[in-house]
Order: sequence, then structure tokens, then C-alpha cells
Amino acid sequence: MRIKTRFAPSPTGYLHVGGARTALYSWLFSRHAGGEFVLRIEDTDLERSTQDAIDAIMDGMNWLNLDWDEGPYFQTKRFDRYNAVIDGMLEQGTAYKCYCSKERLEALREKQMENGEKPRYDGHCRDSQCSHGADEPHVVRFRNPQEGSVIFDDKIRGPIEFSNQELDDLIIRRTDGAPTYNFCVVVDDWDMEITHVIRGEDHINNTPRQINILKALGAPVPEYAHVSMILGDDGKKLSKRHGAVGVMQYRDDGYLPQALLNYLVRLGWSHGDQEIFSIDEMKALFTVEAINKSASAFNTEKLQWLNHHYINHMPAEEVAVHLAWHVEQQGIETRNGPELKDIVKLLGERCKTLKEMAESCHYFYQDFSEFDADAAKKHLRPVARQPLEAVRAKLAAIADWTPENVHDAIQGTADELGVGMGKVGMPLRVAVTGAGQSPGMDVTVQAIGQARSLERIDRALGYIAEREAQA
Ligand code: GLU
Repeated sequence: MRIKTRFAPSPTGYLHVGGARTALYSWLFSRHAGGEFVLRIEDTDLERSTQDAIDAIMDGMNWLNLDWDEGPYFQTKRFDRYNAVIDGMLEQGTAYKCYCSKERLEALREKQMENGEKPRYDGHCRDSQCSHGADEPHVVRFRNPQEGSVIFDDKIRGPIEFSNQELDDLIIRRTDGAPTYNFCVVVDDWDMEITHVIRGEDHINNTPRQINILKALGAPVPEYAHVSMILGDDGKKLSKRHGAVGVMQYRDDGYLPQALLNYLVRLGWSHGDQEIFSIDEMKALFTVEAINKSASAFNTEKLQWLNHHYINHMPAEEVAVHLAWHVEQQGIETRNGPELKDIVKLLGERCKTLKEMAESCHYFYQDFSEFDADAAKKHLRPVARQPLEAVRAKLAAIADWTPENVHDAIQGTADELGVGMGKVGMPLRVAVTGAGQSPGMDVTVQAIGQARSLERIDRALGYIAEREAQA
């Protein structure tokens, strides 16, 4: 069988992590089987759907590199098709027009509630023989079977059964002529030949209704897999309170899409105790059966750990592509400094996010206006003048500007003065980076460049001289 899955977001907000995980699972399932993946925008709720949300979904899918073979389809562009199917059902008798007034339905509801019954349509118009004018307001209802039950074998949860008595005759077309949500999903899954529906568990209750309509249409019934929800680290449903906004926020916060995908795949799915999965491994190993039934809790620390791993294990050139965006956000011009891939290698160990990396790489490209006050107070003291002057001379004399030669200049200075490396390295660090923390001095000074390093040492010497004058 040719496998075809879909991701069908409603564009009423960001593509949040729960949606992204559902998209990932559907995508992986089809990719694993060499099948196809459809993107469908379920925008029938005209009041809540926005273009911004559509853009955010597309941005998220593109950033995560979850590519689709068909679509994006938009349900609002398919109303003619849905209406044609409804008209066919009316002819066949699998649907009927319901003329019940709002008042009647309201009264019915109240009575049912009073009797402790679940509110449901009582089928008043189902077999009514009353005649009505062609333009008399009405809705169209699906003629749901009244006997038996709907059973489906959820690929994650096992068999799920709903009695047909629990399901009333669903409105499939409103008075204003608009087809309703569950109906559009059914026609789409049918037309798009979806074989496997992987979606959030909040749709379990829709499934028996959708199956009944599919059967009435003579359409094949796909397999269903309902994924559990994601909780925040406090055990409550993940929401904005947890900072769980759109996936693009994770880009803004400095996460690599590979790290987020790896995090999301493991959030509710496992393969032994393996934690790190390349995209190819995910595709090769993913099965729906290995998705966890219970809810999973989001853990930002683990995501950070994975991000750190990917920053340091992915080819630096690839990480640099993502870093470039952050560096641009910081307004840093990188033409006259080290290549970004070298920044990744230099700062990868000490940064959990690319945002952090972009924020701490300024001194490679831009002169700083002031030394960090504490660092300068501690390390740019009169005693540092001699080692700084000595190391400056050695650095100035280097013909081949390599980290090894920079290292030898620092080491040589320390040896000649009979002091530890730190007595040379720390003033030098503050002089060239402006602060007390950086990667190793040899690679840092080398990356900053010879002329720029010498200029900055001169500036630090000027600072020390001023201090001496004030003393
Ligand atoms: N549009 C629905 C949602 O965003 C998904 C429907 C489905 O997957 O069947 O929750």
C-alpha cells in the first residue's frame, strides 16, 4: 500500500511545539515508508483563522525542514467540492435537511439537561414528511447509524469503541451554507487519499463521526493514531505560560532546528535508550507503535543539552548558516573578522544556544567602547604593564599569524619574566576581548587578528598608564 499522511493545522495561532511534533511524526511515518506527506491548512473557521498564522505555520515547517509533497491545500478553496458531496448525500439519503428552529433545539437541550441526559439532537427532521419551501432556512445533518458501534484500532492506543447511540446526527452544512469542520476533514482525507491520520488526542472524539461519514460515502477508512499531549515541566498542559509559544520562538532563542526535531521526536517516542538521532536515523527507525501512550513533559534543560550537542557535533559550516541569522540580528558586520564557522568552533563548547554565541562574539568583529569594569580593575593593573608590553612586542614580530605562534609568544613572555601563563594571559584577555572570559588565548588572539590585537593592547596600556598616573 502506498502510504500517505497529512499535517492539517488550523491557522488560529502559532505552530506550537505540540503541532510541530504531530507534523514531525506524520512526516517521519511517511518518509519511513517512502510514502507521501500532505500539508493542509484547515482554515474553515473564518473568524479565528489569520494570514499571520498561516505564515507562521509555513515558516515553522520550512525552518524545521519538514517538506511536503502536496499542498498546501486550503479548505476555504474547496467549498464547492464539499457542497457537491453534501448535495450527493442529500440525494442518496445519507444526509437530510433539518428545519428545527433555534428555539426548539434550545428547549430540547434544556429538557435533556434537566433529565440528566447528554444533550443531543433527537432526530426530529430525520424522517419527517413535512414539506418545506426551497428557501426555508435549514441545516444539513448526517444520518448517523442508530445501531451498533464504531470500533477503530488506534495505532497508539489500541481498539477504541464508540456506541452509535452516543453520536447524534451531526450538522455537516450550516444555515449559511458553510460545510462544517468534521465534514471537510472527511472529504479531504478521502480526496487526498490519506492512508494514515496521525493527530492529537483531542481529536479522538471526532474519529467515530468521521468514520461513519467516510463509510456512508463509500470511502476507505484510514488508520488512526492519536498522539498524547505535551505537558509543561509542572505537569500542567503546555501553554504560553511555559514559554511554549511558536516554534519560531525557538529559532529566536538560538536553537538549531536539528536539536528541536531531535528533542521533539524523543518527546513521546523512543528507540531503546538512544537519545541522539540524525534525521536519517529518525526516518529509518520511526514507527508509530513505539509512540508513548502517556503524556510527555517538556523539559527545556534537555532541549538545551541537545542544542549544545548539535552545536558541537554538526559540521561547523552548517551551524554557521544558522548562526549568521543571529549575528545579523545583533547588527554585527562579519566581513572584517573570522569566518562564522571558526566562531562556532571557538565558542561552541561554552554556548548552549546560538543566541548566546552571537551575543558573545562581538569582540571578534567590533571594537568595544569600554573594558568590563571588574575585569579591568582586576587585570589591567600597573603590574600588568610589563607583561603586556613584552607580549605585544612578541606578537608584533610574528610573521606567520597562527595559533601556535601566538601561543609561543605568550608562553615565551611568561618564561622570560619568570611568571605563570595567567599573569600574561589574563591582562591580554581583558585587553583584546574587553572582558574576563573567552576561549583559549592563542585561538582568540589569532581569530581577532594581528593588527586589531595590537591596537587593543595599546589601548589597554593607555588605560594602565592612566591608572598609574592617578595612583
Ligand atoms: N485542524 C486540526 C487541528 O489543528 C487537526 C485536524 C486533524 O488532524 O484531523 O487541531
